[in-house]
Amino acid sequence: MNIILMGLPGAGKGTQAERIVKEFDIPHISTGDMFRAAVKNETPLGLEAKSYMDKGLLVPDEIVIGIVRERLAMDDCAKGFLLDGFPRTVPQAEALTATLKELGREIDHVININVRREFLIERLTGRWICPICGASYHTLFNPPKEAGVCDKDGGKLFQRDDDKPEVVAQRLDVNIAQAQPLIDYYAEQGLLRNINGEQDIQVVFAEITSVLRG
Ligand code: AMP
Repeated sequence: MNIILMGLPGAGKGTQAERIVKEFDIPHISTGDMFRAAVKNETPLGLEAKSYMDKGLLVPDEIVIGIVRERLAMDDCAKGFLLDGFPRTVPQAEALTATLKELGREIDHVININVRREFLIERLTGRWICPICGASYHTLFNPPKEAGVCDKDGGKLFQRDDDKPEVVAQRLDVNIAQAQPLIDYYAEQGLLRNINGEQDIQVVFAEITSVLRG
């Protein structure tokens, strides 16, 4: 099962990715996570990627394509994989198609989790995080027992800079503009499966598994 998972920030991609890889026992390949690990370990790749990530820019295609190509050739991808955060550009998508062809494989499904922009703004701006344990709360959907304080360890909750209302709208618009050419690319190939991400987490997951098993 070779899957690409797409969705704007706040669409619930992380939650669904976790469940999908568990259900189908396939590796979760997140290019964002790979770059963050490389930055943390101060590898040459990390040092190069950091300069782009810090500015909120995409890492150049040739670098991203290189690391994904290496990762897909690893043994654990033989039974399938879930790509998350890749491809982000049409050249990346074309390179992915070519790489998989070399490996005698192809993408089976592109799952796109759709949530309307106004709901994404509501979801993102309400998110507060514990600096101690990383737990995530939402002022409307999952509030802590005491406002501003983590239920688990009493940590003082903070809001990520990129979740602040003044930057969320712009961040979404950049992501929408980036995603559209890819949505068109996979729609043309008949691979795109749109899922309504405004439903309950379990319902979204049930719809995704039914598409993947279908
Ligand atoms: P993410 O966690 O997916 O939002 O990725 C964090 C950062 O890593 C992005 O802002 C980019 O700088 C970089 N990155 C992750 N995936 C890609 C990709 N497919 N193409 C280019 N840059 C990427």
